[in-house]
Amino acid sequence: AAALRRQTRRGEANAAPAPSFSQLPEHQEMERMRRAGALIGVENPFFRLHDGHAAAQTRIDGRDLLNFASYDYCGLNADPRVAEAAKAAIDRYGTSPSGSRLVAGCRPVHDALEAALARHYGAAAALTFVSGHSTNVSTIGHLMGEGDLILYDTLCHNSIQIGMKLSGAARRAFAHNDMAALEALLIENRAQYRHALIVTEGLFSMDGDAPPLGALIALKERFGCWLMVDEAHALGCVGPGGVGSFALEGIDRGKVDIWMGTLSKTLAATGGYIAGTQALIDVLRGHASGFVYSVALAPALAAAALCALDLLAVEPGRATRLQENAALFLTAAREAGLDTGNAGPFGIVPVMVGDTLLAAKLSERLLQRGVNVMPVMFPAVPMRAARLRFFLSALHSEADIRQAVALTADALEQLRREGFGTALPPG
Ligand code: PMP
Repeated sequence: AAALRRQTRRGEANAAPAPSFSQLPEHQEMERMRRAGALIGVENPFFRLHDGHAAAQTRIDGRDLLNFASYDYCGLNADPRVAEAAKAAIDRYGTSPSGSRLVAGCRPVHDALEAALARHYGAAAALTFVSGHSTNVSTIGHLMGEGDLILYDTLCHNSIQIGMKLSGAARRAFAHNDMAALEALLIENRAQYRHALIVTEGLFSMDGDAPPLGALIALKERFGCWLMVDEAHALGCVGPGGVGSFALEGIDRGKVDIWMGTLSKTLAATGGYIAGTQALIDVLRGHASGFVYSVALAPALAAAALCALDLLAVEPGRATRLQENAALFLTAAREAGLDTGNAGPFGIVPVMVGDTLLAAKLSERLLQRGVNVMPVMFPAVPMRAARLRFFLSALHSEADIRQAVALTADALEQLRREGFGTALPPG
C-alpha cells in the first residue's frame, strides 16, 4: 500500500494539466473558419432557429420563408392525421416507453409499424431503432467483424462509415456508382475474407442520384456478398408512389439482404429500421447494441411513422408531385445556368458552387431574400465541392420552385461579381 501511495504521488507530480478543449484540432479549425467568415462578412449558416412546422414554408426570426432545408418530401410532417396518431399514442402509452424493448419497452404500435415496414419491403420481418444513425452504426457494427470485408460507395453517409469502423472489418470504398471499380475490388479482395457486405444508398443524400441496383445485385450474387441499401432518402422520393429504389429497375426486393431506412424523413417522425429475413432480424433483436441497450422508439413516433407510411401508400399522388417538382427544379436550374451535378428527378437537388465560403454566403443572401436553404461543405462533401442542397417537397408550388431557382441564379452571379469564390478574397 505504501509503494502504491508513493507511485500515485509520483504520477501526480508528473502529470501535465489536461489541455483545454479549445486546443483540439477541430476546435481550432472551427475558429479558423469563423475568423475567415468574419473577415469577409459571412455569418454561420448553421443552427438557425425555426418556429412552427418545418415544411415547404418555415419561420425563422419571425419571418416566413420558403423552406428547402427540411426533409418533408411528401408533405406529411404537418399532416393533421399524422399528428392525431401521435397524440392518441401519447394518451394511451405516455411519452416514453421507459425501457429497452427487451425489458419493458414493447408496445403494440411497435409490432404494427414493424409489420407494415416488413410488408413494404416484401420481407419476413423488420426492427425499429431510436434513430437512423444508430440503426446503421449498430447493424453494420454488429453484423460485420474482423476477417470480414465491407465494400461501400464512397458517398455513403457518416452513419454507415461509423458502423464500418466499429465493426473492425476491412473496408474498401468504390468510386460513386462505379460498378467496374466495385468488380475490380471484389476480384482482388473477396477470396481473402469470410463475409462480405456491399453498402449503398437508394438515393444519395448529397448528390440526389440513385444507384444501379440491378448491377449491384448481379455482383453481390457472383461474389457471394450481402447487399445493404440505405433507403433513408429513397422512401417517398424514388419510384412510383415513392416506394423506394427497388421500383426504379423493377428489382425483386428479396434480392437485397438488408433494407435500411429512417423514420425521420418522409415518415414524419424520428427513428430508423431494418427489414430482411427473420434470421437477420432475430440476430439484431438479440445482439445489436443500439437496439438491446437503448430505449425503445417512443410510441408516439412509431404511431406517426405508421400513419405516414399508410398515407404514402394510399395517396401516391404526393410522391408524383414531389417528383414533378424535382423535374421542374432541374429544368429551371439548367436553363438558369446552375450546375445540379448528377441529381435525378427525386427530391434532393444540389446546386454546386465549389468554394465553402461562397456556399455559406449564398445561403445567407437567399435567407435575406426569403429562401431557407443550407450549404453543405467539407467534410460532409469533398473539398472544393461545396454546394447548396435543396430538399424539395410535394407541398412546394411551381411558383415556389421557379422563384427559388431564379433567386439562386441571381444571387450566385452577384456574389461571383463581388469576388466570392475566386482565389482572391473580395474587397
Ligand atoms: N442514412 C442516410 C443516408 C442519411 O442521410 C441519414 C441522415 N440524414 C441517416 C442515415 C441517419 O438518419 P437519422 O437522421 O434519421 O438518424
